[in-house]
Amino acid sequence: MASLNSHAKDLSRFWKGNILWDSPMSQFSSFKVGGPAEAIISASSAEDLNKLLQWLQKHDIAWWVIGRGSNILVPDKGLAGVIIVLEGEFRSMEKLMPADHAPEEEKIYMRAGGGCLLTKLVNYCTLQSLSGLEFAIGIPGSIGGAIVMNAGAWGSEVGALVESVSLMNKNGRIFAEQGKNLGFSYRKWTMPSNTVLLSATFGLKPGSSHDIKAACRKYQELRRKNQPLAEPSAGSFFKNPPHESAGRLIEAAGLKGYAVGGAKISEKHANFIVNTGDACATDIVNLMHLVQQKVYKRFDIKLEPEVHILGGED
Ligand SMILES: Cc1cc2nc3c(=O)[nH]c(=O)nc-3n(C[C@H](O)[C@H](O)[C@H](O)COP(=O)(O)OP(=O)(O)OC[C@H]3O[C@@H](n4cnc5c(N)ncnc54)[C@H](O)[C@@H]3O)c2cc1C
Repeated sequence: MASLNSHAKDLSRFWKGNILWDSPMSQFSSFKVGGPAEAIISASSAEDLNKLLQWLQKHDIAWWVIGRGSNILVPDKGLAGVIIVLEGEFRSMEKLMPADHAPEEEKIYMRAGGGCLLTKLVNYCTLQSLSGLEFAIGIPGSIGGAIVMNAGAWGSEVGALVESVSLMNKNGRIFAEQGKNLGFSYRKWTMPSNTVLLSATFGLKPGSSHDIKAACRKYQELRRKNQPLAEPSAGSFFKNPPHESAGRLIEAAGLKGYAVGGAKISEKHANFIVNTGDACATDIVNLMHLVQQKVYKRFDIKLEPEVHILGGED
């Protein structure tokens, strides 16, 4: 990959919108850690995004698209390349008319942009008495992040509700895909890493307003009770191994409350690594390794991070 340094002037001339140069990624990550990205650019339309990706491809510059940064970890040394944030049309949401999408099993279809907040969609569905996404109440992040991660809670996953998506590949080509072809599995989809989720259509069912609101209240209450929501984190740090709970293993390994620098295993939920105030990304990575080693030694199970470490670990 080429360095952006030698192309910075060209990028400034080419891109008409704002560019944040060498800005800390801590402001874009729920962990509140991370060194600077060479450039952070907001794309507001598919046309702009297409131009930007073609420019990046032509100059062989590394890039990452992020949502609300609630499942990423950026190394302290920062990222050599461009971070893309989806704004404008990518934050919209609409209910589709039957003519736009063949009705089936009395489903009602909602389309949301890749940069739209998942919570915005869940709240809208609650107001409209559309059932299906109640489990997702309280999952921070965007539609793009939720689909890439196949976000889930309480036994349900976002991927199961995805009817279709609109995607853009690294050359700027837009293509559609059926949800069933995205190969969703636990906290994972199977698209190549440089594919941008532009929008997604969800199939929901008409439901009882009373039941939907009650389910949302219950899930929010469970989160408040069991999760350290006041401290910066990325939610559950490790994936649950098959038929096991990562939190249970970490707690049984005696690691609850264990700290490395400013990174700590939450006392409230052992699968949450929290930033106690002055953590750096290296503290979090070192704590991650320590947890992996201790759990492996004790249970012969290798914990795999759910959090995406942008740019890799070194
Ligand atoms: C307090 C807390 C609670 C949480 N609870 C849950 C939970 O219950 N269940 C759960 O599954 N997760 C949970 N999470 C983790 C996180 O919120 C989800 O994974 C969320 O879906 C990530 O969305 P995001 O927009 O923040 O993605 P980001 O963190 O910004 O990105 C995650 C990954 O998706 C990629 N990405 C983002 N947008 C796009 C796009 N448009 N196109 C292509 N790639 C994209 C990024 O490159 C990155 O690889 C929690 C996090 C916190 C902080």
